[in-house]
Amino acid sequence: MQFSDVLSEVLRRVDIVDIARRLGLVIGKREAQYTTALCPFHNDKTPSLALYRQPGNPHFYCFACGARGGVLDLVEKQHRESRTDSFRWLAQEVGVDLPDGMRRGQARDLGSATFGDWMVRHNRDDLLRDFADRRNLDMATLASANAFAVDLNELKVDDLTPGERTAMELAGVLTLRREKLVPVATGRQIVFPVEAEQGFIFRALNDSAEGGKSRRYRFSKGFRKSETRQLSDSLRAHPRPESPGVDP
Ligand SMILES: [Zn+2]
Repeated sequence: MQFSDVLSEVLRRVDIVDIARRLGLVIGKREAQYTTALCPFHNDKTPSLALYRQPGNPHFYCFACGARGGVLDLVEKQHRESRTDSFRWLAQEVGVDLPDGMRRGQARDLGSATFGDWMVRHNRDDLLRDFADRRNLDMATLASANAFAVDLNELKVDDLTPGERTAMELAGVLTLRREKLVPVATGRQIVFPVEAEQGFIFRALNDSAEGGKSRRYRFSKGFRKSETRQLSDSLRAHPRPESPGVDP
């Protein structure tokens, strides 16, 4: 089982209101869509934090200070621990065993899962279909490669929770450039997650988007480029008018 599957299972089991209570938050009223609590992100006097129980995606939003995030951000905030330690605590609370093999490098894997979640929310099927059509690939091929099409200009670092930022930095998706944290690629990209590497290959959709310095392929930080051969081979197994050019 992939670590991201374990993450999903934990999130599926979590009752964010119950977890918030165990984290020492003062719970307020139960509304139709959410349950309120005193917000730990600002000096809250009346419960302004909305806790959304949504299965698989337990999250919160503060109507007063705008804080938002997933249940892990709440754990991280209350325990003042790393995201990995927060996750370990959460898994234990909901009775999910972490397989031993997943302990090594799990912070990076968790980061990949966080970026994966972002891609699921921002996936552009129209771009993916267009890419497949132009390369004479079928959607099933892209699906089996678990490819996503996203516009990375929509990945606003300032809008991410501290936990998400850290996780994506660990995954090598965000990197420091001129003392600013930015995505490793910009604009519309086809993204191929490479599970074995816990890394990502970014393939630019419009080469002119990055001006003169455009580069078709980019990689998450710390990515071993030999892994691209595997992807290249799997795409080559299908008819296409021209080489997908996955080799670096
Ligand atoms: Zn707040």
